[in-house]
Amino acid sequence: MELAGKTAIVTGASSGIGAATVRKLREAGVRVAGGARRVERIDADEAFALDVTDEASARAFVEAAVGALGGSFDILYNNAGLALGRVPFWESTPEDEATVIHTNVDGALRMTRLCLPFIRDGGHILFTGSVAGRQAYPNGASYIAAKFGLRGFVYALREDLLGRPIRITTVDAGLVTETEFSLTRFKGDADTAAAVYEGVDTPTADDVADCVLFALTRPPHVNVDEIVMKALAQSSGSRIVRRADA
Ligand code: NAP
Repeated sequence: MELAGKTAIVTGASSGIGAATVRKLREAGVRVAGGARRVERIDADEAFALDVTDEASARAFVEAAVGALGGSFDILYNNAGLALGRVPFWESTPEDEATVIHTNVDGALRMTRLCLPFIRDGGHILFTGSVAGRQAYPNGASYIAAKFGLRGFVYALREDLLGRPIRITTVDAGLVTETEFSLTRFKGDADTAAAVYEGVDTPTADDVADCVLFALTRPPHVNVDEIVMKALAQSSGSRIVRRADA
């Protein structure tokens, strides 16, 4: 599949995996509209403010982005997401739980619902899941619940869209560096965030973006349902073999 000349919307485009994917899509000749709350940090053909947890913000974003892309488009990458905290569930707060569920789950449902009428035949909807949505690990309950929930939605969407010429893919990654994921999770504590990746050669945001482009460039009759990608030294969210010097 040739990507040049296609159009895309990427959520969570202001950093990490989203920013890397925007860059690679544009290198492949795709015209990209990016969305995030920190709109000033988005480097895309079109950039509009987006809070996926807010219906009015998402509606305004979709109207602006679809308009800028010509009234319809080809690729939706539902990538915006986050985790908050790494604590036993009894220390979880209602505020963090709500933010994590609303961003990762409701946000992806909302954006898919709002964008679907504008996705052209031959289009593709992609999601960033996580290994947290496949295997539980200690002290991450709200994020694990959210990514399991997202995976359920994607399976259900695949059923509802079956027979229509729109492909669906989820990329479930383990540890990924060159993102702000852990900085956000640990609420700005840079040392704790950095320790997550010590002694492990991890995939980068670019490696995840490569998975997105792989799925997009398969022949039109091939749907890559899921890609699960981890560091070689990681088997799950909780099993990581770190180098002795770490
Ligand atoms: P990141 O660098 O922190 O990027 C997260 C992106 O999501 C940012 O662009 C952020 O933009 C956006 N976002 C967060 N809340 C949003 C909201 N309410 N509305 C719109 N955009 C919002 O981390 P990342 O690793 O690239 O994360 C991207 C995705 O990968 C997430 O779904 C995450 O769960 C998943 N993931 C990450 C890892 C990892 O280890 N890094 C592993 C597996 C899966 P603003 O803050 O500007 O809004």
